[in-house]
Amino acid sequence: MIEKLFDNDLKKVKPKKMIFFFFILSIFLIDYIVYIAGGTHTVYPHLMYIPIILSSFLYGLKRSILVAILAGFALSTFIMPLNVQLGIKQDSFSWMLRLPIFIGTSAIITLLAQRLKAAVGLERKKAYINPVTGLPKKSKLLLDIDEMIEDSQQENHYALMIFHYENHDFINRYIGYETGKSSLLRMVSIASNFFGNDQLYSISENKIVIILPNHEAKDAYEKGLAFLHKFHKPILSDSNLLPVNIILKCGIVHFPSDGNDANTLIQKLGRALGKAEQQNEDIVVYNNEISKTCIDTYANILTIHYAIEHDMFHLVYQPKINIHTNEVSGVEALLRLNSIKINPAQIVKIAEDIGIIDQITKLVIKKAVDQLKKWQNEGIHTKIAVNISSKDLKDDSIVNFAKQYIYANNVDPGLIEFEITERALIENLDTARDLLHKIKDIGIKISLDDFGTGYNSLLNLLDLPLDYVKIDKYFVDHMSDPKGHNFLKGVIKILQNLGREVIAEGVEEKEQVDTLRAMGCDIIQGYYFSKPLSPEKLAEQFYPSMPKN
Ligand code: C2E
Ligand code: CA
Ligand code: CA
Repeated sequence: MIEKLFDNDLKKVKPKKMIFFFFILSIFLIDYIVYIAGGTHTVYPHLMYIPIILSSFLYGLKRSILVAILAGFALSTFIMPLNVQLGIKQDSFSWMLRLPIFIGTSAIITLLAQRLKAAVGLERKKAYINPVTGLPKKSKLLLDIDEMIEDSQQENHYALMIFHYENHDFINRYIGYETGKSSLLRMVSIASNFFGNDQLYSISENKIVIILPNHEAKDAYEKGLAFLHKFHKPILSDSNLLPVNIILKCGIVHFPSDGNDANTLIQKLGRALGKAEQQNEDIVVYNNEISKTCIDTYANILTIHYAIEHDMFHLVYQPKINIHTNEVSGVEALLRLNSIKINPAQIVKIAEDIGIIDQITKLVIKKAVDQLKKWQNEGIHTKIAVNISSKDLKDDSIVNFAKQYIYANNVDPGLIEFEITERALIENLDTARDLLHKIKDIGIKISLDDFGTGYNSLLNLLDLPLDYVKIDKYFVDHMSDPKGHNFLKGVIKILQNLGREVIAEGVEEKEQVDTLRAMGCDIIQGYYFSKPLSPEKLAEQFYPSMPKN
């Protein structure tokens, strides 16, 4: 199939028959020039090498030798004198020698040209063919789409489908590369039987694209469903007879509705696939809403970069109230950007995805330590908790930064608290364990944030050096229901028996405060006491007797 594909390409570049007649014409023209110039005793017969050499490059052996023979006859003794002015004929020997020289030259150059073409063709194939699947690569797909669009008539339309073999990396890693490769090839072979070979492309290691001429997006959707159905059961067994299941996700775009050039269509195809993967749907047909989300995210990325560069982030502080003494036991620092378009959770998620969350975390630590110093100077003694992202636990750079900044500013590390979510701990349990001990050694306190959302086992908490556990708002919200009530009461007891102080998050109502107090909960944070506040407002509301600067 691939051979056919490239043969077709070569056919496209083969000169048309018309050009061959130009060669014949050029032979007559050169013949005329030689005659005008005075015959074969002049230098002009050498001009005949031009059509001979060019035809050798453009045609096969037969045609180029035909050109050489015609050139030889055009300069033969029957047509061309040795000296036109003096009327001297050529002797037969010289033109009969010239003819085989022309033919030989033509044959040698044709053979050399063919070798050169073969080498160039091989290089071209390498550039266009995926070595594992044997399918054309993305570069060929882009060319074909553009060509298809150029050739298309008004009424022509196409659907493009992309399939991503989502668990390919997993199979490579945990079952083995051989199984990964054979399952990929099996998937490609099922696809080529299903869709027909000519329309398949491998655009990356585990993604294939299919062009479906004369298909509406909904036709492609139905075909996609039928194709995915073939993968509902294992498609092969590995050498240990382990069944191998392939998980495929699919995106669809339509020409001309979704774009008029290859790059736009491929970009939107990627966005449709991205949505399928994000939302765990089997197939997503592209629509403009998807692009809008992508454009919004892009704008948000720019906003975040700009805000970091121009120091536009600031912190607000939400108090945590000790339920027994009614005093502020500490505050949580929460990130804010003066933008209505992007909320803190989105900022954090995007910064994590684009790999710049560490810059934000450092910035928050810096601002929190500065604020702590400022409050100390004003006579306000409290603790500040900062949120640490799961990505910050990959290595010790954040911990080292915090240590350095806290020591350089002469702040008591015990007044700084790191809030680390339960999910972040589970995701990094091995590195996190060491890191938590390092944090503890510096003297920084540790809170387990969003407790109850990470499917953690309570046993896991036993050997982690945690000071506080923050019970997620979800459990506070479900406290009125008897099961939720008993669960929360039990969890608070267990955590306290393990020596942790318990904080309830997202407390909004008085009844919740009363119930939590009755359950023995230590600290409460939530809108009931206060929303997150600017440092000035916090000082004003919770430390009214302190002198203002
Ligand atoms: P979180 O760490 O669980 O923070 C608590 C969130 O709940 C805050 O939202 C807070 O304003 C909100 N909240 C507090 N009390 C109540 C209440 O009574 N009712 C309701 N409905 N909400 C309440 P915020 O500030 O929008 O932050 C959302 C999330 O964004 C945070 O959840 C945290 O995961 C993340 N985040 C915020 N600032 C930072 C930061 O500086 N670094 C990192 N890594 N994440 C941050
Ligand atoms: Ca938090
Ligand atoms: Ca929380």
